[in-house]
Amino acid sequence: MTACPAHPSAEAVATCDRCGRFFCAAEEVPLDGKRYCGECGKRPDVDWLGEHYRPLIGRRSGFAWSAGVLALGLGALSVLAFFSFDGAIVRRLPMVLGLGVLSAALFAFFSGVRWGRVAPLLAAPLFGLGLGLMSSEWLLVGTLCALVPLLFGAAGWTDVRSKLFFRVEVDRPALHKHFKLYGNNPLAVVASRLAFVSLLIPGMSVLAFVLGVIALARVNRTGTPPVTNAGTAIGAMIFSLITGIAWASAFLA
Ligand SMILES: [Zn+2]
Ligand SMILES: [Zn+2]
Repeated sequence: MTACPAHPSAEAVATCDRCGRFFCAAEEVPLDGKRYCGECGKRPDVDWLGEHYRPLIGRRSGFAWSAGVLALGLGALSVLAFFSFDGAIVRRLPMVLGLGVLSAALFAFFSGVRWGRVAPLLAAPLFGLGLGLMSSEWLLVGTLCALVPLLFGAAGWTDVRSKLFFRVEVDRPALHKHFKLYGNNPLAVVASRLAFVSLLIPGMSVLAFVLGVIALARVNRTGTPPVTNAGTAIGAMIFSLITGIAWASAFLA
């Protein structure tokens, strides 16, 4: 048997995929199909994915911020509904309560309390029920308003950033997929969006092209983390070049 160099009383189980030294079972760090020794496993360049996402645990996601804004808006609507509708209080109460419940549920999502993740999903049918008690004229509005918390509820269950915000475990393949979409050279994605905007707004072509060039310069396939998305950057450059020429010829004609 080979003894572990770091823990001589323990038996070595394999060699590290980074530094090559033997390691024992107790210190082994398995990561993305590779096996590392305890020392290498702690390195930020080995677990760059973990390094990238660890600070985002408990940090408010984009969905959570928009839930907060919507909670304010719907809360204000609830107050408005209470004071502005004519007729008996019994008629407008379901609307006032429904909007109030929606607002509270979205605020719970924004605040990050454990049950806030499920609150919008529970509030949506409650709001529907509240409006069902009212006349049929509210049915369409109620359905549309109930869709909003459903969207946030769905985000709470599937959106990686929202899962991290609620401190829900996210597995490595999901983190890799998320990084590929949003963490990997996001400037290239911005450039490609601006390239599409440049179809409508003349000056955007130049901006999209410049951002595409910068994004392309940032590509570093062997870096940690690897920066790719070169195709997106090149696509944005070509597209904005075409729209730029089209706008220029339109102005000169
Ligand atoms: Zn090692
Ligand atoms: Zn060891």
